Amino acid sequence: MASTVIAIDGPAASGKSTAARNLAVRLGIPYINTGSLYRAIAWKAGQKGISTRDEAALRAMLADTVIRYAVPADGGNPDIEIDGVFPGQALRAPEIAQGASNVAAIPFVRAFTLQIQRDAAKNQLVVMEGRDIGTAVFPDAKYKFFLTASPRVRALRRLAQGGETPDNATVDSVAAEIAERDKQDMNRSVAPLKQADDAVFIDSSGMTAEDVLDAMVLCIREGGDA
Ligand code: C5P
Repeated sequence: MASTVIAIDGPAASGKSTAARNLAVRLGIPYINTGSLYRAIAWKAGQKGISTRDEAALRAMLADTVIRYAVPADGGNPDIEIDGVFPGQALRAPEIAQGASNVAAIPFVRAFTLQIQRDAAKNQLVVMEGRDIGTAVFPDAKYKFFLTASPRVRALRRLAQGGETPDNATVDSVAAEIAERDKQDMNRSVAPLKQADDAVFIDSSGMTAEDVLDAMVLCIREGGDA
């Protein structure tokens, strides 16, 4: 039987989070952001003064870390709880992104996160967003989407989240940062970012968030019973 997961994978700033959140609201089911898991590990490392490339120190840190998805006291979607704390928005700080990509390239970190993600989707239909959900975490996901957009559009969207009106040099530099992170995510040895053979490909460069949602809902209706 296919797992009860709707997987949305794709590169950084491709609109996955918006698409996943919108789809979850439309279907009335939870939304789970798996980037938060790697971000939380990078966040804790930062708090402890540990480099996100220091594998020995990260291994010792994870041996003494409890991470799970839990619904916060004020409700909403399951969110990352690490050592009893919900870091929430602190995980979205721009400096956490590269650290998250660094820890995510380490095989034992991915072994540690695999079961946490599988537990989060147990027994319920969820929308789960990440890089390897349709390829490694839930290869038998019920529906799979691979969402992307051109590097320039992704940089503009990322900057728009901060409410800025950027100049060309800023757009170029954000596009370069995003490209660097994608390169690391696509070239790592374990669970690299790539489209699953059976995923539906959506290039959202010329699409609104509403267009993307409609396209996904259409696929799910055609596939039946979500
Ligand atoms: O999605 P987000 O940009 O928050 O993810 C941060 C980093 O976490 C990514 O650049 C990637 O290296 C890693 N990640 C991953 N697998 C996932 C989700 C995120 O490797 N399923």
